Amino acid sequence: MAGFEDIIGHEDIIQHFKMSIERGKLSHAYILNGEKGTGKKLVTRVIAKTLQCEQGTADACNACRSCKQADSGNQPDIIWVTHEKPSVIGVDEVRDQVNQDITVKPYASRYKIYIIPDAQLLNPQAQNALLKTIEEPPEYAIIFLLTDNVDKLLPTIISRCIVLNMKPLREMDMLRYMTDVLGIPEEQAYFCERFAFGNLGKAVRLATSENYQAIKESSVRLLRNIYKMSTEEIIQAAKRLSEYKLEMQDLMDIMQMWYRDVLMFKISNSVNQLVFREEYQAMKQQSNKISYEGVDNVIKALDKMKVRLDANVNFDVAMELLLMTIKENYNG
Ligand SMILES: [Zn+2]
Repeated sequence: MAGFEDIIGHEDIIQHFKMSIERGKLSHAYILNGEKGTGKKLVTRVIAKTLQCEQGTADACNACRSCKQADSGNQPDIIWVTHEKPSVIGVDEVRDQVNQDITVKPYASRYKIYIIPDAQLLNPQAQNALLKTIEEPPEYAIIFLLTDNVDKLLPTIISRCIVLNMKPLREMDMLRYMTDVLGIPEEQAYFCERFAFGNLGKAVRLATSENYQAIKESSVRLLRNIYKMSTEEIIQAAKRLSEYKLEMQDLMDIMQMWYRDVLMFKISNSVNQLVFREEYQAMKQQSNKISYEGVDNVIKALDKMKVRLDANVNFDVAMELLLMTIKENYNG
């Protein structure tokens, strides 16, 4: 039942479409660009529904047949392009689902709307096939390309589209949504909001994942004490972390954020910029025990670990090595 009024943030994009609808001036192709979790699909779903509403105003009526079909995901003139392989959208998929289909007039609506999520996965042949359609679209066609990386699209495509960038949400909007709508405890909501830097999808995922809380607690406990741990204790700690093998990226993110905070504290000597605000005492202590160079080395080691994990190395060994490297970078 979502309408524009249910979307948190993204006022400029909504305003753009409301004005375009009122003036009857729509482009045939749009790119919504923004990282995963910023709400591209939700925003596009509401735009498409509003465009197709039988009432034809800048807000969907939520009552007509088209609105009801759109809400249940069955509006025949709103087409979500799908792809079989997880990492690529091929030329056949564009030909079958867009180029051929688009020549058939809308079934019952004003427009025929095509939405291509993960458009960064379109391979060059698929993009060239799509380009032909974007160059000479039928009057009734509107194409939305949703992407987390607009640079993966050919300049010839970009130049024919209106590019709309998803902006990070404001702190207060995210907090209000997490505490009031989702009922997440305030302190947890605060941490996740800071950690996600304006990405609501990410903040919500973190705040609602039980594992994430456990990973956060384990890694904070470890990082608080790592500089005084013995080799034996470090080996044990590496073993314990293997429990989170499947969530390694989250674990690495948390550890990187910890050292980003150590660095921030060293520079500013203030709690305001910290993600781990409640770890103020630990940050103060740590910032005295590790040099700028040391923090830099640790952050680099964490980057390296991310690459190693992608290459399927032995987890325990890699983790032990990482923790030893972190420890070595503290002074004496
Ligand atoms: Zn309607």
